[in-house]
Amino acid sequence: MQLNTDLLKGVAQAATKLELALVYVKNDSDLTITSVNESFSQIAKNYRLPIDSLFLWLKNERYSTTLHLFDALKHQDTLLDETLGRSPAGDAFHIQWSVSAADDGGLVCCIRDIRWRQKYKDQWTLFERVFDSGRASIVVTDENNRIVMANRHFEEISGYSKYEVLGQDPGCFSSGRQSKAFYKELWRTLQQEGYWTGVVWNKRKDGREYPEHKTIYAVTNEHGVLTHYFSSGEILPNVGEAPQQREFSDGLISQQALITALNEHRRQQLEAVAVYHIGVDRMDQANRVCGLSFGDHILQILLARLKDTFLPNGLIARSIGDEFIVASPNISTPDIANSLGQMLLQSLNSTIRYDDIEWNITASIGISFFARDNDAWKAIEQAHIAMHHAKSQGGDNLQFYDTESQNSARESLRLEQALRYAIENDELSLHYQPLIALNDQHVFGAEALLRWHSSEFGFVGPDRFIPIAEQSDLILDIGLWVFQTACCQLKQWGSEYAGSVAINLSAQQIQYADLPNKLLTILRNHDIPVDRIHLEITETAMINDTNSAVSVVSSLREAGFTLSMDDFGTGYSSLSYLTRFPIDKLKVDRSFIDTITTNSESLVVTKSIISLAKSLGLKVVAEGVETEGQLKELCLLNCDYAQGYLFSRPLAADDFIQFYRQQCPSIETLTPHLLSVENAS
Ligand code: C2E
Ligand code: CA
Ligand code: CA
Repeated sequence: MQLNTDLLKGVAQAATKLELALVYVKNDSDLTITSVNESFSQIAKNYRLPIDSLFLWLKNERYSTTLHLFDALKHQDTLLDETLGRSPAGDAFHIQWSVSAADDGGLVCCIRDIRWRQKYKDQWTLFERVFDSGRASIVVTDENNRIVMANRHFEEISGYSKYEVLGQDPGCFSSGRQSKAFYKELWRTLQQEGYWTGVVWNKRKDGREYPEHKTIYAVTNEHGVLTHYFSSGEILPNVGEAPQQREFSDGLISQQALITALNEHRRQQLEAVAVYHIGVDRMDQANRVCGLSFGDHILQILLARLKDTFLPNGLIARSIGDEFIVASPNISTPDIANSLGQMLLQSLNSTIRYDDIEWNITASIGISFFARDNDAWKAIEQAHIAMHHAKSQGGDNLQFYDTESQNSARESLRLEQALRYAIENDELSLHYQPLIALNDQHVFGAEALLRWHSSEFGFVGPDRFIPIAEQSDLILDIGLWVFQTACCQLKQWGSEYAGSVAINLSAQQIQYADLPNKLLTILRNHDIPVDRIHLEITETAMINDTNSAVSVVSSLREAGFTLSMDDFGTGYSSLSYLTRFPIDKLKVDRSFIDTITTNSESLVVTKSIISLAKSLGLKVVAEGVETEGQLKELCLLNCDYAQGYLFSRPLAADDFIQFYRQQCPSIETLTPHLLSVENAS
């Protein structure tokens, strides 16, 4: 397609208004200019570029001669490119241009000055550098005081990564040492004067407190409307802090020194370096359950193993919080990086005793490679993301950085952020799935199953968010919310519902010795007898940390709760565990029921689980019953209870009570012959 010259005249005027330069040239080897619009003259003047030779403007790496340009025009109607060049007078210019053939055989060229774009890019890069350098910890919040930006120094001081704090109110770092009146006065001054300065006591991620000298400014837009708060803080010496810092310093360098070393390595164009980011699993929990000195003890063990594995060739730095970064040179392949990492995991995996607590130490490791074309910070960040990925896989494992893990770890962090506000934003609810007694077909209970409808992510399934809640300890609050909500619901159903509600407990919850008391208090507050609540704990949760789990589970039983071992068959399924825990029921995992009619092995396993349970005086629940065939098989095996889509999916509270009123009418019509056989026997 060629351009019409008449049309071009009108276009030239419009282009001038848009500050687009238009040039009309002859199709000759010099690209001789025949006419230009005003914008073109203006740019030429600004950068002292000659008007006579257009090719000086367009010339770049791709089109180094006019011949290249003409050649390209044979295949394309319009060429579009950029030129970053210098005028004969030495002025830098950066333009974007297009060239098309006109209908009279000439060429029309359109030029846009994009030097401002580069300028903004440079300014932004500079801003990022300034933001991250220096000793000040900087946090920017929006008008609702939710964090929108935090710099690296903030991460180092607080122990939180910026991804963890985005969207949070900085009030959550407050140590609680200062009174409500203090914060009230802070806000009053900030609102009236536009800034506040003073000392605040905050709390690190690991629970330690520190004093910070802070200045906070209110930021307004051009109309004087408040848009953000900018706070800059410097940590003050805290006497109580110093010895602990010293303890770790042996054999360690600072993160900044590690970065400098990596950059020097790159400058000398040396071999690739593997960067490891290492974090102890369940560290928050160790600090919470056993105290900070226990946490420090674990870190000392980790540090000793790190030195054994990586020194003298590697460099070890303390990262944010309780994590470490190691740079290990001369590692040319992922295989070698992997073996070293696995060695570390193995040497670390051990059980230590502290007072009367037995703690299994494990760690998660993320690995990235720092090569010539990488940036030291980026390599560290990538290893950090990979470590998050390793944690999300349940810990005690190692992951390499890749785009997939990056995306999934980022998504997990964003979900965790949103989940923090799920309770207060009223985004959680419980659904109830009927539990059916197979001998007399009645609904004897319901399993409470958590649902999350996030305003940001829509519906998120529990298989996705429960593991995230478990990794971050959010499960403790969420678990109590579930318990409390189920009690409220029982109260609301009143005498109309005579069954029990089964509640799932996570492994983290049964680590806490005060769990039974907390649950009993909630029951008392709602006036619900303990036998109306049944607790489900997975087989793996009971086994993982046997000592404390046994004692908490036993106290729950002593308090009067009945208990199920959930997902039975997926873990060790050992008889000794069954006898060790005071449980009442076994729930056969869905994976066996799913294939019970098609896979003889599933049938044999289910059969032996049922007879094993019976010999121990336990009742058996079959999970995930979806077909009549499966139900028949279970009835023949003398299974006590069942749950599954065949009877009902999990239902909202109102739908459940309606289902209960009708007392599962489908069962009799499903298997009348089997039920009567069973009843007769
Ligand atoms: P779970 O404890 O094994 O719960 C049973 C899961 O099986 C539920 O999935 C339920 O909807 C599903 N299910 C029931 N019958 C059938 C069936 O016939 N076919 C199939 N395909 N699925 C069936 P849901 O609700 O997605 O929950 C998944 C897991 O999330 C639960 O597994 C439990 O481990 C966890 N979870 C849910 N709510 C809570 C909670 O309040 N606290 C804790 N700690 N974990 C929870
Ligand atoms: Ca369950
Ligand atoms: Ca289950």
